[in-house]
This record gives sequence, C-alpha cells and structure tokens, in this order.
Amino acid sequence: MKMKKWMGACLMASMVLTQSPVSVLANEFEVVNESEVSQTTNSIQQAIDNAKDGDTIQIQGEQTASISIPDSKKLTLQFAKGARLTNEANKDTITIGQRATVTITGEGTIQNTSHAKAALINNGTAVLDGGIKLDRPNDHDQNGSVARNSYYTAVNHGTLTVYRATISNVGDFSSCVENGWFSSKDIPDSGKAVAKLTINDGAYISGGINSIKNDENGELTINGGTITSNHQYAIMNWNKAEIKGGYIENNNPNAGAKAAIYNGNDSATSIGKLTISGDAVVKGETAVFTKSVAKDGGLTISGGEIKGKLNVAQSSSVTVNGGNFTEKLPEGIKPSGNVHVHTIKKVSKDPTCTEPGVEEHYECTVCHKTYLDEKGLNDLAKPTEIPATGHTYTWVIDKEPTKDEAGAKYQYCVVCHHKTDPVSIPAIGYTEKVENAVYRAYNPNNGEHLYTTNYDEFMHITNIGWHDEGVSFMTEANKEGNPVYRVYNPNSGLHHYTTDENEKNTLVSLGWHDEKVSWYASNKPQSAPVFRVYNPNGGQHHYTMNQQEKNALVSYGWHDEGIAFRTSLVPTK
Ligand SMILES: [Zn+2]
Ligand SMILES: [Zn+2]
Repeated sequence: MKMKKWMGACLMASMVLTQSPVSVLANEFEVVNESEVSQTTNSIQQAIDNAKDGDTIQIQGEQTASISIPDSKKLTLQFAKGARLTNEANKDTITIGQRATVTITGEGTIQNTSHAKAALINNGTAVLDGGIKLDRPNDHDQNGSVARNSYYTAVNHGTLTVYRATISNVGDFSSCVENGWFSSKDIPDSGKAVAKLTINDGAYISGGINSIKNDENGELTINGGTITSNHQYAIMNWNKAEIKGGYIENNNPNAGAKAAIYNGNDSATSIGKLTISGDAVVKGETAVFTKSVAKDGGLTISGGEIKGKLNVAQSSSVTVNGGNFTEKLPEGIKPSGNVHVHTIKKVSKDPTCTEPGVEEHYECTVCHKTYLDEKGLNDLAKPTEIPATGHTYTWVIDKEPTKDEAGAKYQYCVVCHHKTDPVSIPAIGYTEKVENAVYRAYNPNNGEHLYTTNYDEFMHITNIGWHDEGVSFMTEANKEGNPVYRVYNPNSGLHHYTTDENEKNTLVSLGWHDEKVSWYASNKPQSAPVFRVYNPNGGQHHYTMNQQEKNALVSYGWHDEGIAFRTSLVPTK
C-alpha cells in the first residue's frame, strides 16, 4: 500500500493512525506512511506537498505561512473554527497551481497583510465554502500610504466558485476580488485563457475600491449572494458578466454618479457584455452605468429589480425586455416584453373606529410593492399597521324604567354614530308595605323629602314622579311614643316635622298648616337616633338614620341639628 497519513506529533506519540482528514495541530508535523518510518515536517507546505489526492489538511490555531498547492494536486483545506492563516512577509498567502483542484472550507480566516500580495491566487479550480473568510485587514503602511500596502484580497485566473464565504478588503485603492487579467499581455494560452468566477447564495463580498473587478478575459456569473461597495462599484465589468440573482448594492452615500454596476470600458480589448435577469437586485443612486466602445458587448436586462438610475452612455447598445425599475428608463430605450416601471407614491391611512390604518410609507400604485423611501431604494416588507381606535361610546337612555316596566339603553359612538343593540334597564320596583314604617319619598322638582306612615299616600306620590326612597324609620305601635308633628308651609310647599309642640304651635301661628301628629317617635333612650340637618339655602330640614348621609350633607354646608328623635329599628328582610 502506498497510503500516506498526516497527523500531529501528539497523535503519533500514541501510535494512532487515522485516515484522512489529517490534522495539523501545531507548528511541527509528522509524515507517516508504511514504507517510511516517519518524517518530521515543520510546515503546512510540507504536509501539502506530501498529501495524496483527496486528502484533507486540517488547519487549526494561528498559523503564519505562505503556501502553494502544486499543479494538478487535488485536496481540501479544512479550517477549524477560529483558525487563521496569515502570509509570510511579501508573499501571497495561498497560491493554487494550474489544474489543481482545491476546496477551501471551514470557519477560519485567510488573510494577507503585504503590499501587492493576495490572500488567494487561484490558477486552478477552487471552491470556497463552509463559512471561510478571506480578508485584507489593513490597507495602509506605517507612513499611512495606501499604495504601499494594497492589493486584491483574491485573484482568480482559473475557475473559482464561491458558496458560503466572505471576501473582504478594508482598502479603497485595489478591488476586493479580481477575476481575469489586469494586462492582456499576461493572459496565458496566447491570450485565450478564461477566468471563471461564480458567486452563489451565502457569499458576501465587500470592500476595496470595487468589490468585484471582472477584468480582461474574466467571465463572471452571479447566481446569488451579496456584493456591496462602499467606494466605487460593487461590480466593475470589462468583459462578460451574467447576473441571474443576488443582491448587488453601492451603499456609499457619497458615490454620486458611481454605480452599483459599471459595464464596459474604452479600451480596445474591453467587451463589456452584461446581462441581468432572474431575481437579481441591483441597487444604487445609479444602479447600472453602461459604456461600451471598442467591442460593445451590450447590456441586456430581462429580469430582476433595478433600484436606481439606468445610466447609458450614447455609445452603448441596451436591450430591456424584462425586469422592474424604480426609475424611468432613459430616453431612447424602447422596452419590450414584461417591463414594469414602478409608480411610487406616498401612502398613509388613518385608522377608524373599526378599521386599522397604516403608517406613512411609499408604495407602487400598480404592483403595490412597498418601500421606506420615495425612490424605492429600500424595500419595506410590511407597512406598520395602526390599530383601529375602537368606538368612543356614551350611554343613551332610550326609555326610562318605571316601577313596573324595564327601560332600555344603548351605546352611541360620538365619532362614527354607531349604535349598539339596546340593553334593558331593570324596572325600579317599589317598597313593600311594612307594619309601622315611615316611608320616605323625594320630589326631584323641589328637592323635598316627604315622610309618611300612609302607605297609600306613599304609593300615590311615587307613582306621579316622586322617588321611592324606601322605609326611613319607624313609628311606634299603638301611638305609644312621642308624637312627631307635621306642618306645611303653603308658600314654600315644604313640610316640617318636629317633636317640639311649642315649635309646631309657633309655626302654625306664623301661617303654617297644622297637619297634626304624623307619627310617633320612640321614647326609649336606647332607641336608634334620627339626625336632623338643615339647609340654610333652601330652608329644608332633612331627617335620616344614616350617619354617613348626615355627615355628607354637613360637609356640603347643611347645619347639623343633632338628634331629632329616636326610632325603633327598621326590620330587615
Ligand atoms: Zn410596481
Ligand atoms: Zn365609532
């Protein structure tokens, strides 16, 4: 057998041999196979050089190394979570040789900190996946000069496919990703080699002066992912780019005329062929600027959401036969097919009692897509609803209840005039006859309380509008107590009650009518007190066993006249 196994020294010491993946656990590595006893290496490069096709090299911890994958080698570089590979001074970090096939995966970081050197140079076939990060974390030398420490984060001269990976670049001098060749004289195969870059869902590419520069002989396909620029262009396409999905944005607020996508160039070799289709979203103050002179590959938009201006230089050929646009198409472009230009208006709706409203936002009056801004740059997934206010009800009495008959009332909304179904108000009912009771009735017209032992009189006046206030106190059976005299003032219409015969006689001499003994108060000192209060405004006296009622009236200004007489207790049911 010609198996080679790679493992860390600590595993070797315990004589455990494993199939791949092979671990690189420290800065010393052991090489083991069956014909050789062992060979110690101290570099990832040595491990790579000795790996057989299909091996996985695991990389852990912080490593400083610049590595090359030899031509035609097939392997996987598996980064452990948090692992970081940084270049040796003035070298690229990872260089993949021609016809090599390499998958770089795992939640680690590959970075480069040297001027004019990249984190990844791909000349073979490479896949980025598994959450790997490629980064240029600094872009300035000690003197603050950008040009002395700047370059692409990744350069593709082969076939590079990006899935779940982040490629970033803090600088604004070089692009983040270069696909193709800066100079046509450097292109292999007599200038016929093609660099193919494919971006898929899960990819995040940002930073650099342009996030992706699709250069000479570059073929760029975007199926998904997020490509954003803070400086110049998210995508600068000089060759051939096919955008079928993904989110491409220039989010530099000072970008001005700088577009999310720039297509074409003046150079003799530039093709500038760009197609946008599918569910691609292209967003910027200017979404697409196209300018093709030499070969004029042309711009074709047949789908996607174009958020921002379409800026067409006179020289460029443009076909628009699909897609949604937030801005009117430029003069001279005759769309065909299913092209929709949004008509965006400000929208809001006040809530009513029963219907919710909606907060101010922007909406296409045709397709009803919703936005945060009037240019339609920022989508609004769902406008904020304002809850219905509910009715502002007040009770309205439809029919007053009587002693015998129920009344009715309903609720009325003062805002929308809605009425609820009426509900019944119970009949008031009436006080039943009680032996030896003194009944109290209230006249709502003059405010007088009338006290009577005559149940028929009580029933009569409460039938003609007086309020039934029930049994107030008791009269003594068989007229055995202290008489309470009733006198009537024909001028005021008020009655007065007193146990003081002299007071009664004085009032009668002043013109009051003597209505004789009204009832008999208790002559037992232990009987319950009945309090008398006097209203100095109206002149009425009021009698009550209820001390709280008495105190309340005194607090309103009535005079407390103490205990008027005593009474037996009112029987309870
Ligand atoms: Zn629309
Ligand atoms: Zn209402």
